[in-house]
Amino acid sequence: MDHTKILLDENEMPKQWYNILADLPVEPPLNPATNEPMNPKDLEPIFAKELIQQEISSERYIDIPEEIREIYTLWRPSPLYRAHRLEKALGTPAKIYYKNESVSPAGSHKPNTAIAQAYYNMKEGTERITTETGAGQWGSALSLCCNYFDIECKVYMVRSSFYQKPYRKSLINLWGANVIPSPSTETQFGRKVLEMYPETTGSLGIAISEALEEAALNDNTRYALGSVLNHTSLHQTVVGLETQAQFDKTEDYPDIVIGCCGGGSNLAGVSLPYIRDNIAGKTNTRFIAVEPSACPTLTSGEFKYDFGDMAQMTPLLKMYTLGSEFIPPAIHAGGLRYHGASPIVSKLVADGIMEATSYHQVEVFDAAVKFARSEGIAPAPESSHAIKCAIDEALKCKQTGEEKTILFNLSGHGHFDMSSYDKYFSGELSND
Ligand SMILES: *Cc1c(COP(=O)(O)O)cnc(C)c1O
Repeated sequence: MDHTKILLDENEMPKQWYNILADLPVEPPLNPATNEPMNPKDLEPIFAKELIQQEISSERYIDIPEEIREIYTLWRPSPLYRAHRLEKALGTPAKIYYKNESVSPAGSHKPNTAIAQAYYNMKEGTERITTETGAGQWGSALSLCCNYFDIECKVYMVRSSFYQKPYRKSLINLWGANVIPSPSTETQFGRKVLEMYPETTGSLGIAISEALEEAALNDNTRYALGSVLNHTSLHQTVVGLETQAQFDKTEDYPDIVIGCCGGGSNLAGVSLPYIRDNIAGKTNTRFIAVEPSACPTLTSGEFKYDFGDMAQMTPLLKMYTLGSEFIPPAIHAGGLRYHGASPIVSKLVADGIMEATSYHQVEVFDAAVKFARSEGIAPAPESSHAIKCAIDEALKCKQTGEEKTILFNLSGHGHFDMSSYDKYFSGELSND
């Protein structure tokens, strides 16, 4: 019988993260006041020093500290599945594999970087971390991980998700963090936005500004970002490195690697180790970033220097962007509602190493239901973008008769997204 579930032992888990900056330099963040490359020292009031070092490091491999590996083993190595039932339902000769990152306590890939960020902050004496969250995945991941190290955590949650996804909020409370809807009255910037747009659904750009403002004003407080920045992609490479070790146990090697893209971290995590092999001339894998048509950063944005937040408090990042003022429609894949994208992923797309595509919300839910009814797992709306693309690629193989191997990252489960599924089943879900 062919494999269905490919597992690794704990001792086969990667001991180092892979840093693609050694093989693919990206343009540096700029100080908006001077338009010169940012001085790392200037970021120290905001981020833990070790994370700033990792952000600009050109070391190809960075050791994963033993304490982080120990906590990783609570959910890692995560399983790689061969989607036999989905293949059968589609009648495709393609082989579909998915890496299941929904097995972490928070239900997504996000704790892979949250635990690293909490750890380095704990080492440097941070007492409190502020952050933003879209769908609530990052906020719950960070509250889980701050709790492991007794760090206080405060989460600004995008208002539309705060009310659409009340149970993510409960989970954040369960792990001991404080969560409030953004824009809030607790920051200067939040009050300004509320005055201008009292009915706003909020955005990640606004929530980031609020969390940054609070960290900048308090000495014992640092800020953590769940995606976009180079160090988040670095930490997520455990996903792709494990997947490579798992594929070594099969006869297959992926021809296509697919991930959904919000800020780009799960996509970077699954694909960067494969991109390393392409750059080394060993392989010729295709990579596809999948985003919502309602927030089409990579497919319709501009590749330029822009701010990461609405208040223009962050350094300027060279990335695809829809503009830091952009407020996307309140689609159900809240984790994909970001105006920008990781500079690494942006560079890969700009250089033609990675493709990008977008889908509408309803067709994404069609794919989610097909997946749930064949594989059983209820996927997150974000991850369902990757599923939709994998299904389309498998259906192309059905046309051509090619037996391609397709890998996608199942970035999370949808157990807290049932109200979105309800809307889909009652026909109330719109495309934007
Ligand atoms: C946050 C999130 C995403 C989007 O973030 P990336 O940084 O692009 O990976 C995707 N899927 C899930 C389940 C998420 O929680």
